[in-house]
Amino acid sequence: MCVEGSVPTEAEGVYCMIGGRTSLDILKEVSANAKAVIAWGSCASNGCVQSAKPNPTGATPIHKLLKGVPLIKVPGCPPIGEVMAGVLVHIITFGTLPELDGIGRPKAFYSKRVHDTCYRRPFYDAGLFVETFDDDNAKKGYCLYKVGCKGPTTYNACAVTKWNNGTSYPIQSGHGCFGCSEENYWDAGALYLRNQPFPGFGIESDADKVGVGAAIATGVGLAAHAVMTNIRKSKIINELIKEGKESEKDL
Ligand code: SF4
Repeated sequence: MCVEGSVPTEAEGVYCMIGGRTSLDILKEVSANAKAVIAWGSCASNGCVQSAKPNPTGATPIHKLLKGVPLIKVPGCPPIGEVMAGVLVHIITFGTLPELDGIGRPKAFYSKRVHDTCYRRPFYDAGLFVETFDDDNAKKGYCLYKVGCKGPTTYNACAVTKWNNGTSYPIQSGHGCFGCSEENYWDAGALYLRNQPFPGFGIESDADKVGVGAAIATGVGLAAHAVMTNIRKSKIINELIKEGKESEKDL
């Protein structure tokens, strides 16, 4: 069973009535014999904009309403078409559900941060950032962290799969990732965090801890690796800049 959208649970009988029945009533009936339920998109997976404060309709994601049935979340606003197809093809081909991460997303598509596969990552590592939209650094294709990019804390396949048959994705179009596949991203200030300070290596250890529950020793190892990678990449990029090869294309 595939569900699109969250379910309003406030003021029963007012919101989203179909043929005189509440959408919650229909959801429970239809899911009763389902092999599994797939929550398509961020509305069904985490409530998305409908459940942002003050959430007047009581919009609720599917996993909070259904018990006792396997549930797969495929968040994204919208979710990536190839990811949606991949989940269905897996179930049809193997007759089993795909392996899921800790919050119910298929690991095949949500086990890496957007930041991990971002083509602007060398600029992040070298400390080269867009400061404001349309500044010279934006034209050079530098990292979008300081203008609100949530790639370091967002798990999704955007940077690999891209959109529109692999044409582009938000970061490639010049706008930071706003974390649409993460829980409560509207209330977390997804769209209006601007000029955020660069936290240095702290964000690396934080995001890696969230992702894999890294032990302290692993964190120390990652930090050491990040320092060495930074020094190496900074040197290379600064040399290229001196030679006049300062755009992302050149690098
Ligand atoms: S902060 Fe955003 S733009 Fe910068 S490297 Fe990470 S994902 Fe890419």
